[in-house]
Amino acid sequence: MTLTAAPDVIELPALALVLLAGVPGSGRRAFAARHFTPGEVFDAHAFQEPADLHAAVAAQLAAGELAVVIAPATRPAERAPWSALAREHDVKAVAVLLDEERAVLEARTANSLSREELIAQVSELRRTAGGLRAEGFRQAWHLRGAQIARVGVRRVPLRVDRRDLHGPFDLIGDVHGCLNELRELLACLGYAVQGDTMTPPAGRTAIFLGDLTDRGPDSAGVLRLVMTMVASGAALCVMGNHDEKLLRALSGKAVKAMHGLDVTLAQLDAAGPAFQGQVRAFLEGLPAHLVLDGGQLIAAHGGLPAHLHGRGSGRARSFALYGDTTGAYDELGLPVRRDWAAGYAGAPLVAYGHTPHATPRWVGNTVNIDTGCAFGGALTALRYPERETLSVPARAVYAQPPRPLPPGQPPLA
Ligand code: MN
Repeated sequence: MTLTAAPDVIELPALALVLLAGVPGSGRRAFAARHFTPGEVFDAHAFQEPADLHAAVAAQLAAGELAVVIAPATRPAERAPWSALAREHDVKAVAVLLDEERAVLEARTANSLSREELIAQVSELRRTAGGLRAEGFRQAWHLRGAQIARVGVRRVPLRVDRRDLHGPFDLIGDVHGCLNELRELLACLGYAVQGDTMTPPAGRTAIFLGDLTDRGPDSAGVLRLVMTMVASGAALCVMGNHDEKLLRALSGKAVKAMHGLDVTLAQLDAAGPAFQGQVRAFLEGLPAHLVLDGGQLIAAHGGLPAHLHGRGSGRARSFALYGDTTGAYDELGLPVRRDWAAGYAGAPLVAYGHTPHATPRWVGNTVNIDTGCAFGGALTALRYPERETLSVPARAVYAQPPRPLPPGQPPLA
């Protein structure tokens, strides 16, 4: 990869491990002081042992905070532990390379470093900088000379981070094409229904927990309704495994059109290419999960353990879409899933779906509100912060469940 030529402002993920790479005299500390808070900066000079620095940065990332590391990073072997640590904590590793003019470096290090040693370090860093991507750094910014002092830093929140939204919310489980039940549920929740225009009760927002389509009778109609709600700000939606598969199909990828996807695709065919394009753009924009209400509420289709809340990694995405799969298949050919909720000890309430039960299933601080509407169960909403569920029964059995829906579990009194 060629390093990104830096514009006037570099954009960093709001949650990341940022390695400030540069030789002595390149101005890493001054750069850190200009753009980051003292609590975000981890300077090797301030730690007796490399292990202490490593542990401090690990704790910062575990807490979901940005960490900026100033440590020897001239050689790939010195950088490797930092990209590995970022990966371990499901955050992006970013390198910012400060490449100062030779004359400036020599003046700043005249008393601390021989000219030969300085030149050796500069050439080693420049020689290996092109490999930063291969080393696991997802972004690498190369700032040269005067650019180092001039450049601005902008933090870009992750797509999953909607801590700024405080609700109240109406979270809605797997709809799977059950348009009539969805309209009825929204009406019960107090939404004013006019065609595809839904006006929420004052201040409320609907949150769809994914799996909008397949199995039920009108997947295209559900998409139209939900897309209209999202566009108007009446709703947010996270991605489910069925939504992800539909997106792959619409993107021309080879997928097996089973579990109702064939019917959905036929409905979208009939709806025409313009609508299909809108559906594709909508699905591409869906976050894999959402952190809401200052971090107190998580919406994720397949659930999400605490260490993956707010993380944008492939591992977090995969868990949120598919749940805690073991990789094995049961006697009916269905993926075996672990009961992640039983081991959940996080503080936020996690609302999810994905695994249908006859009634909502409360386990600790989690609630599964997939009540199998397409299988003839019910469509369920969770009102938050009220923590009340509301269900409307399915009007028909639209698809045969592979086995009877297991019982849910009421909340602890
Ligand atoms: Mn589902």
